[in-house]
Amino acid sequence: MRSSTPLIVRAELPHGVCFGQPWGISLDGLLASVLWHRRKADEAARGEVLTYDPRAIPQDLDLPLARCTLGQPWHWMCTFAHTIPATPHPEPRTRSSRTDHADLQRLSASVPSTVTDARGHYRKRLIPAVATVTATATWRAVGDPDQIRDLLVEVTEIGKYRTSGEGRVSAWRVEEVPDDDWWSAGHEHMPGVLGRSAPAECLFDHPGITHGGRARTAVRAPYAHPSRHANHAHLPFA
Ligand SMILES: [Zn+2]
Repeated sequence: MRSSTPLIVRAELPHGVCFGQPWGISLDGLLASVLWHRRKADEAARGEVLTYDPRAIPQDLDLPLARCTLGQPWHWMCTFAHTIPATPHPEPRTRSSRTDHADLQRLSASVPSTVTDARGHYRKRLIPAVATVTATATWRAVGDPDQIRDLLVEVTEIGKYRTSGEGRVSAWRVEEVPDDDWWSAGHEHMPGVLGRSAPAECLFDHPGITHGGRARTAVRAPYAHPSRHANHAHLPFA
């Protein structure tokens, strides 16, 4: 039996976290990634390979979160990560990327005799990312606390550059706050501050909310898929 109650989810981050966007990552994306990996493992155990087809409309995974159906597309009742940085500005981090020439030879039967590192599509490049030095990340949500705990225990790193040690999570805490307002727990970092991307209809009753502007953007996982995008959606305040 699934229950739904307002929650605060907190990740302890001993080494800070690196996000590729001005705002934090979504809780629904994290939960969906665990379910997707579990499904992949089940298929692998049967000798099958589960693949993601970006041309198909993705099936919605059964996340232990309530849904907000005020706008189109609908979204899960949860925010993006909220952080309180320890430094006045985010810290730039840079990674370098170089084409694996031996890999090119394996992938293609006709590779030119020289593939230069200095120019062209396969050149060596520097990739900047912004790291937030912070001790915790928090999300608000409406959902089933036990099922959320069960999924998050499998998430040991969040954000970008996890293989370099960024975003390691030392502990997850899921706290029930039954007196919190449901709409607020599904949309706001704190009263009056938008904490997620949201279709315009979500904010009709909250015209004074502080947000990060408006754009065509995704409102639920998988965030990269066009079927999850809303026109003139409000962006989170970051
Ligand atoms: Zn909404």
